[in-house]
This record gives sequence, structure tokens and C-alpha cells, in this order.
Amino acid sequence: MRTLLIDMDSVICDLMTEWHRRYNEDYQDDLHVGKLSTWQSEQFVKPECGVKIYDYLKEPGLFLKLKPLPHAIEVLERLNGQFDILIVTSSVSTAFQEKEQWVEKHLPFIGKHNIIFSHRKNMIVGDLLFDDAPHNLESFHLTGRLAVAMDYPYNHDVEVPRVQNWLDFEQFVLNLDWKRRRTSMKHADVIIVGGGPAGISAAIWCDRLGLDYYVIEQAEELGGQLPSIENAFIDYPGILTRNGKELQEHFLDHIRQSEIRYALRTKLIEINEVDHIITIKHEEIQEKMSYAFLIVAAGSAQRTLGVPGEQAMWDRDEIYSATKDSPKFKEKHVAVIGGGDRALEGALLLAKAGAYVHLIHRSKHFRARNPFLLEARKQKNITIYTNTYVTSINGEHHVSAIDLDTLDDKPFTLQVEAVFVRVGVQPNSHELKGVVALDEAGYVQTNEIGLTTNPSILAIGGYTNGPLIFKCVHSSWAWSSCCQVYI
Ligand SMILES: Cc1cc2nc3c(=O)[nH]c(=O)nc-3n(C[C@H](O)[C@H](O)[C@H](O)COP(=O)(O)OP(=O)(O)OC[C@H]3O[C@@H](n4cnc5c(N)ncnc54)[C@H](O)[C@@H]3O)c2cc1C
Repeated sequence: MRTLLIDMDSVICDLMTEWHRRYNEDYQDDLHVGKLSTWQSEQFVKPECGVKIYDYLKEPGLFLKLKPLPHAIEVLERLNGQFDILIVTSSVSTAFQEKEQWVEKHLPFIGKHNIIFSHRKNMIVGDLLFDDAPHNLESFHLTGRLAVAMDYPYNHDVEVPRVQNWLDFEQFVLNLDWKRRRTSMKHADVIIVGGGPAGISAAIWCDRLGLDYYVIEQAEELGGQLPSIENAFIDYPGILTRNGKELQEHFLDHIRQSEIRYALRTKLIEINEVDHIITIKHEEIQEKMSYAFLIVAAGSAQRTLGVPGEQAMWDRDEIYSATKDSPKFKEKHVAVIGGGDRALEGALLLAKAGAYVHLIHRSKHFRARNPFLLEARKQKNITIYTNTYVTSINGEHHVSAIDLDTLDDKPFTLQVEAVFVRVGVQPNSHELKGVVALDEAGYVQTNEIGLTTNPSILAIGGYTNGPLIFKCVHSSWAWSSCCQVYI
């Protein structure tokens, strides 16, 4: 069933007449709605009143006195049942109770539980907004949904369909071709960016909760980092797999069974958080989509060194997995850069396969687990260089050497045939810069229940949670439920 969002003041009830009556009485004026050519009422009152005109809205009892606009009640009664009707009103908090009482009295078939008090009506899920305020009409229209204006001089600048009264509105709504209306811009109540473990898990929950959701994934397949992981997964409860590809297969099976809605090769380019619109790119074509909630599950990517020669190495496809490619480097010199678990684990795998490993770490202290470190120190074919950092990767057609500098000694060069860069990960949070608060490392800051600093944007998974799939999956149901509560 379609949902109609109906504004209250000056749409269902006649606020202007009572409001202006109070002002005219105090200031001996003859203000009426026909004189308001813009939304700023203070421009049309006597200078001695100015913005005090808004104080009348805080007067106890004002809203209880308002009369319904002609035919408002009977039309709403007829539309109720054919549509879900929500009353959406922006208001001073002192008026909340009076507005509830007004609705209980005049619209008992809708009831006070179907009132939403909000200054951001474009964030509310619904198919159509019937309103008079130019900013609400404009921002709702920008989300790709239909905004209809109750015609007043002050909203003439907004380019949306307009009606003169409630009988016109009833005809308009009943004659609507809803399907055609929606095609101007795609909309999903929840858009999930990223089809890795966290995004997949959020989608499974959105599906289960019956939400209108859509997953966009920039890669050729769902699974995020999983297909590129060569190590065995021993920490995901209930599923033991030999590598990430196998775990991905389990996830894809689940997706096929649940008929999750997603688009591949579709990249998030930009977020317009004010109007709830994202720009996405699918095979060189850009388009816009509107959302009520955005769940960003864009994960992380390997951190790079940013030194000369590194990009050329990637471009030549000299990217190796210590698990899979170790045998290639038997009796060859290789460099492993980093001081965390992945660096140490890689160095050990390579050393055990017979390579001469140069482990380069820019600090004296290692983040890696102690057992890895102790074992690496015992391995004769691992040489550890601390306080040392790479300044360049050299080689014309393939890597042949690296230049190093140290905090303790002189710069030097090592002849190596491969470089394994294992300096940690960085979040793919580029599109969120300036949209929500990020920490110094670029991770999205979330509060204790995981919301970002923008109440319509949630960030999950490798973005926020640290490096375990189990945690990404575990948190995602909560965010999906969170969207459901608001939708
Ligand atoms: C070598 C290695 C071994 C690991 N081993 C383990 C392990 O044993 N156990 C464990 O629990 N975890 C392990 N992890 C960590 C695990 O892979 C991550 O925790 C998990 O993949 C994070 O899931 P995610 O969905 O948050 O992000 P990701 O898996 O990174 O997925 C993010 C997705 O978002 C997409 N995306 C990014 N930006 C955009 C955009 N702008 N538009 C559209 N899509 C976008 C990406 O293409 C990607 O598909 C390992 C990781 C690595 C690299």
C-alpha cells in the first residue's frame, strides 16, 4: 500500500487565519495569507513585530483552536484504507501535545500514533508528501519522490504539482500513475554500499525485515576481500574453510536462496547527505538514487607505501600471496614490509618455503603476535631490520632492489626479487570525507550504537569494527534493525 505523508499546519488545519488574527489584534494590521509572497512571515509584518510573529506559535492553546480546512477531514477519511496515511509536521515542541489532541479529536481514524514530528520530512519514508512549506516540498522532490503543494503565494517558486484544495488533492491522488512517477529517480529506503561480508549480512537482515533495500557493489562479484584471501578460515563459527573463496561460496549460496537485491560493477561516487541522494556509476554511466538510510559497508583496502616504483610494481601485476606463491621464491631474496601479524605470517611462510626473507619494519616495536615474532627471530633465513623504511622500489621490467633508509644508520640498498607490502589496511572512506566524522586514520566514527554523525548514514564492517568477519556480520543485523525502527 502507498504511503501518503500529509503536513498538518495550513494543509489539514487552518493555522494562518488564527495566527494572523492574533497578530492583527495586537498590532492593528490586516495581514492575511494572500499577502505572503515568501515563506518569511517576518517580512510582511510591522517592523515593531518582526520575528516576534513566531512567538504566537508558542502560545498555549493556539493549536487547539485551529479549524480543519474545507473537506480535509472527509477526504482523509475516504483516502484512509486505500493508503497508509502519516501526519508529518514540523513544530515547536511545546505544541506536540496540542497537535496530538487535535488529531485525536478531528482525525480519530488516523490517531495520534500516526503523527511524525520532524523538521526533515525528506528523511521520512513515504511515496508522496502533501505540504505547503517550500523547503519541505523542494527537499522531498529532490529525493525522487512526489511532492504536492497546497497552493499558497509563498510556495509559488517551487516547481511541483499544486492543488487548490482538498477535493483537488483527492482527484490528483486517485488519478496518479504511480509506476511512471517513480521512474524519474530510483529510490530504495535502504541503500547498502559494498557487497562484502558486512554488506551481505546487512542485506540478509533487510530482506528478512521486509525493508525496501538495494546493495551496490563496485566489483564483478559479491564477497568483498574474501576471494583474495588464501589462508584458511578457522574463526568463523560453524564454517571451516580452506580459504576465503570457499567462505565466499557459502555466502553466495545464502544470497541465492534469499534472492538478495544487488547491482554489481556499480560504484558509489558521491553522497549528497542533505538531500539523501547518492551518485553511482555503472559501466561509465552515472545516475542518482535517493535513500532514506545509507548503510556504508565499503570495507578496507591494503595500505600502500607511496614510494617511487611501487605503482609500477602493481601495474606490472607483481602482487603475490605468501600462502600461494611462496614456492616460487625458494632460494630467492624477497622483502616483506610491515610489523603486524600479516607481515610476520607472510615472512614465516616464505622462509619455510626456502626464501631469504628481509623483514623491514619502520619501528622498533612490533604489533604482531608474540609467537609469530619469536618464531621469526629463530628462523635463520629471516633477517629483521627495525627502524628502517623503504624509500624506493627499483627495477625496469620486474623488481630488482629496494632502497632503504634508517633512523639509526646510513641508507642502503637490498637486492630482492619481490616485495610483499604488508603495512596494514586503510578504510575505503573516501566518499564519506566531509559527510560524516572520520578519525585520523580515516575510520568512520560511530557512537555506542554504531550511528555515524549523520543520523541517516550507518557505517559497518571493516570500516569501523576491526578486522574480523565475525564482527562485521554480527553487527550488521543491528544496523538493519535500526533502519527498520525508523522506517
Ligand atoms: C589476507 C587476509 C586474511 C584475512 N583473514 C581473516 C580471517 O582468517 N578471519 C576473519 O575473520 N577475517 C579475516 N580477514 C578480514 C576480513 O576479510 C574482513 O574483516 C572482511 O572482509 C571485512 O568485510 P567488509 O564487508 O567490512 O569489507 P570488505 O570485505 O572489504 O568488502 C567491502 C566491499 O565494498 C566494496 N566497495 C568499496 N567501496 C565501494 C564503493 N565506493 N562503491 C561500491 N562498492 C564499494 C568493495 O568492492 C568490497 O567488495 C582477512 C583479511 C585479509 C586481507
